[in-house]
Amino acid sequence: MIPYSTQFIEEDDITAVVEILKGSHLTQGAKVEEFEEAIAHYVGARYCITFNSATSALLGAYAVADLKENNEIITTPISFVATSNMAVALAAKPIFCDVKMDGNIDETLIESLITPQTRAIVPVDFAGKPVAVESIKSIAKKHGLLVIEDASHALGSDINHQKIGSFADMTIFSFHAIKPITTGEGGAVVTNDETFASRLKLFRSHGIIKKQLWNSDMVSLGHNFRLTEFAAALGLSQLQKLDRFINVREHIARYYDERFEKHPLFTTITIPDNEQSARHLYPLLLNPELHCVKEEIFTELQTRGLGVQVHYKPIYQNSFYKERFGEIRLPTTELFYKSELSIPCHQKMSMDDAVNVADIVLNVIEKYSYRGCSF
Ligand SMILES: *Cc1c(COP(=O)(O)O)cnc(C)c1O
Repeated sequence: MIPYSTQFIEEDDITAVVEILKGSHLTQGAKVEEFEEAIAHYVGARYCITFNSATSALLGAYAVADLKENNEIITTPISFVATSNMAVALAAKPIFCDVKMDGNIDETLIESLITPQTRAIVPVDFAGKPVAVESIKSIAKKHGLLVIEDASHALGSDINHQKIGSFADMTIFSFHAIKPITTGEGGAVVTNDETFASRLKLFRSHGIIKKQLWNSDMVSLGHNFRLTEFAAALGLSQLQKLDRFINVREHIARYYDERFEKHPLFTTITIPDNEQSARHLYPLLLNPELHCVKEEIFTELQTRGLGVQVHYKPIYQNSFYKERFGEIRLPTTELFYKSELSIPCHQKMSMDDAVNVADIVLNVIEKYSYRGCSF
């Protein structure tokens, strides 16, 4: 089975981890700071604060943004649930904005959703394709809002060679096993704001500051959301390979783009020439006439060894969200969900694998086309 995405761990990654396991500090040592400096440097942000997941990093970002009961964030329903869950965890309300057919929030619809309760705009760089971050920033500036970017798919993505992580007030990355690089579980917030950075550090580690000798003071409510030293060592080793990983994924994605160009049954998502996508996912968008056979296509691709997946069921369609916030409908979001199918694209694949994947995808999709769907 070729998964849609997977980790790629090499000997030097293992050596880096083992070195830490043999050393004195498994946690709260120098590696975490070294990893943080390396991430901040890579994306061009002043501060990086690592967490034990992107989910806890999102909670931290929302908490230091002072998101409170009845506050609202404007966010995308085409994401993993954690993006909005962590706002709900602070009793805030996610206001879902419709998306475009590249899966990214439709920036032209954001302004109409702003209310006196709105605190932040929270876009997600779907599949690694950068959101229209400059437009989103200018809307935020006009209305005094923060931009908190969930870039869990987008470490290494850039716009005009400026990396995602250097645009928003706070940007979140995930180092989950299948994300652009991994620490097993892990995440980070990057920011240029010193106050956010110091509050995030407190939030991550019990809200305690060290004083003299044994004296410390707990000054704010905190958690233990720290990354371990061996996770940071893995992350540092992986970060050195990020550009190589992206290159492999880009190569495969461009090959798919060519093989699938102008296909009558489905489309793909084009990355503009001035942008780089980390290519976390390679999404196909099935034409409406194939929506009624999507389950069959999905199952047959799985049977033929392709670990395909659908990203994402709109967050508001989950029963928790329906019960808590009532039912909503967003037309492009729902069309996108019906159309989307992510096929394997990752750094562990060879070009032979990519040829094989493209052959199977075309063979299976074309086989189901005759059935057609009625509207
Ligand atoms: C993976 C992911 C998360 C959660 O990341 P974890 O590190 O697993 O907590 C959040 N948002 C998006 C968009 C993701 O893809």
